[in-house]
Amino acid sequence: MKKKQIDQIFTIWQKENPHPKTELNFVNNYTLLVAVVLSAQSTDIGVNKATKALFAKVDTAQKMLDLGEEKLKKYISTIGLYNGKARNVIALSETLVKKFNGEVPENIDDLQSLAGVGRKTANVVLNCAFNHATIGVDTHVFRLANRIGFVDEPNVLKTELALVKAIPKKWQQHAHHWMILHGRYICVARKPKCHECNIFKLCEFKNKTST
Ligand code: SF4
Repeated sequence: MKKKQIDQIFTIWQKENPHPKTELNFVNNYTLLVAVVLSAQSTDIGVNKATKALFAKVDTAQKMLDLGEEKLKKYISTIGLYNGKARNVIALSETLVKKFNGEVPENIDDLQSLAGVGRKTANVVLNCAFNHATIGVDTHVFRLANRIGFVDEPNVLKTELALVKAIPKKWQQHAHHWMILHGRYICVARKPKCHECNIFKLCEFKNKTST
């Protein structure tokens, strides 16, 4: 897709939603990190339900260690894969306390050294906690970016790198959120809602539907 077209799409999204934000609830950088780890293959709504009571009591890595894995599991038992996620949250909290003075580090390598933190999660944390212009590529961003013609790549890493090249710098701070929201609510996986779509004319998907 041409840069001008990409620019037009982001202009539309910005007018519609000038300050897009994550739909995950959190109270500080640590709880943001935990929420993003818990959200893997789960909905933000489901994570928010579980973390409401948890984050009211536990908002630091040390408090999480004091809580312990078994009690943590009780808080998050409604979230898919909660056993493994609880293990990761305890392990990453241990690392934060031991290596990072309890603070969430502000660089991708240190973030990726934490249990349960992959590149997407690291990018989301850098973006939401530290205002880095990173583009976390989750399932929605991957599908949308390749479907509408921003990029044409076979996997998430190549998609992220191609998006960084394709998207004009001025849009990169919020690009991740605009794409997630569009993918989550309009350009959904099975039957995209093309008839409701505000970028219908600019989208290059070959199988757009008019109803
Ligand atoms: S026109 Fe359809 S395929 Fe294209 S972005 Fe909109 S919903 Fe997705």
